[in-house]
Amino acid sequence: MLKPKPVELKKAIIIGSGIAGLSASIRLAKAGYAVEIFERSSVAGGKLGEKQLGSYRFDTGPSLFTMPHYVEELFDLCGVPMQDYFSYEKVNESCRYFWDDGKEISADADRVSFAAACEKEFGVPSTHILKYLDQSQQSFELTRSVFLEQSLHRVKNYFRKSVLRGVLHLPQLHLFSSMHRVNEKKIKEPHLVQLFDRFATYNGSDPYRAPGVLTMIPHLEHNVGTFFPKGGMISIPRALVQLAIRCGVKFHLDTEVDRIRVEKGIARGVESGATFFPADVVISNMDVIPTYRRLLAQEPAPEKTLAQERSSSALIFYWGIGREFPQLGLHNIFFANDYRREFELLFQEKSVSEDPTVYVHISSKYNPHDAPAGKEAWFVLVNVPGNKGQNWDELIPVIRKNCLKKLSARLGVDIASLIEEEDVLDPRSIESRTSSFQGSLYGAASNNRNAAFLRHPNFSRRIPNLYFCGGSVHPGGGIPLCLLSGKITADLIHQDHLQ
Ligand code: FAD
Repeated sequence: MLKPKPVELKKAIIIGSGIAGLSASIRLAKAGYAVEIFERSSVAGGKLGEKQLGSYRFDTGPSLFTMPHYVEELFDLCGVPMQDYFSYEKVNESCRYFWDDGKEISADADRVSFAAACEKEFGVPSTHILKYLDQSQQSFELTRSVFLEQSLHRVKNYFRKSVLRGVLHLPQLHLFSSMHRVNEKKIKEPHLVQLFDRFATYNGSDPYRAPGVLTMIPHLEHNVGTFFPKGGMISIPRALVQLAIRCGVKFHLDTEVDRIRVEKGIARGVESGATFFPADVVISNMDVIPTYRRLLAQEPAPEKTLAQERSSSALIFYWGIGREFPQLGLHNIFFANDYRREFELLFQEKSVSEDPTVYVHISSKYNPHDAPAGKEAWFVLVNVPGNKGQNWDELIPVIRKNCLKKLSARLGVDIASLIEEEDVLDPRSIESRTSSFQGSLYGAASNNRNAAFLRHPNFSRRIPNLYFCGGSVHPGGGIPLCLLSGKITADLIHQDHLQ
């Protein structure tokens, strides 16, 4: 008797194991696909990495964790108890802000306390701040169904009720004013305007040009909260890799994809070295620009989309600091005196201010194992332009000196003499390690009101069976959006291939 032929699963190949690739892999595996991830590096996780310097441990990429429910959703989808792999806690203070004029404020996680502190330190009525945060929430609720949760590039999506509601309210979303203008009008007090302008950098944009709709970002931090994963940010990709493996996803680490094979106009699989791996669908989680330039070199590229302005990059110093600073929290910002000039330099002149805004993240405040007792692990980040061939070897020591000067003056101690361990990450290394074009952190910037619509879709308009997910495509960069990107892409594949 003939044995019944086993039903062959549709095969999906994902290029890259960034956070969006992992999200897509879990969802596709759950939907019944045989999923294989090809990752160039020896570890999965993309921009989320980890480094040990002597007795100090650092998360090398993201430090701020918001919207953890998108991680939780993946475990729920698979029916796996999340606590077996991953846990996190709410952070009780979202950030400490310092200005050179001696002003400072601790942004308590509780929005009422934060608003009260704004009133006490800067004389802005707390009711004003709470109203601003309510409006931020309204903008978020109105826009998320349009801009974040589904493809912006499928016409039928615009006929959904939630999307129509968002589209009808577009005039209310300050698309025609800059974020800075909106903040200036609503908040007025210059220190607090700067504080709320800073949220443009959450997707690598310029508050003086980004549309006012980005004033929805503070909702995430001040109404919903920020979180810290047990074991540090690296726990996020580690947990997702374990979940993916449990769902049957196969990982090929240390395996670079050299080409997406397109036959008769249709994506048929990928090539790595001399080997061809066939697939029913190919998903690139690699930055969309090198995907077209390197893996699809023979195919016409969507030049207008690829020409969009990129988000900023970053220069990060990982410093093992030989003492504790009780006046600092988990996240700290030391503001530049001339914020507008800092962004002009970043985006127009592709350079860095002599007085940069300095972000200091001290993971050891929440994860004591990251530094020896009585010491701290500092992740010191300055926003810098993408890599356009600047002389970074000359620039880095200058920026380092300026950071040290600013921090030492404000903290009243010579920081350089406290550095016990040190390493640096710059736009060149971000680019070479993750293929992120010019080392941008978040793909395309949101510096104009059409940016969301001009971002590359999650599918190829020309090549059937080819899809995209990750920070360089819709809906954009950052961990939560990348998790959503994986979801949108997996949903599109499922819809397209059901018919
Ligand atoms: P990526 O992380 O870009 O990974 C792509 C993967 O593809 C890589 O692993 C790469 O090795 C692999 N790959 C590339 N080419 C190939 C190939 N040809 N073959 C096989 N594999 C390939 N976000 C936040 O939410 N909060 C933060 O605080 C924050 N801070 C950041 C700080 C820094 C320094 C950086 C760099 C980023 C930060 N971000 C932050 C942004 C966030 O890290 C990214 O938006 C997100 O991780 C990008 O994920 P992704 O899915 O696009 O893939």
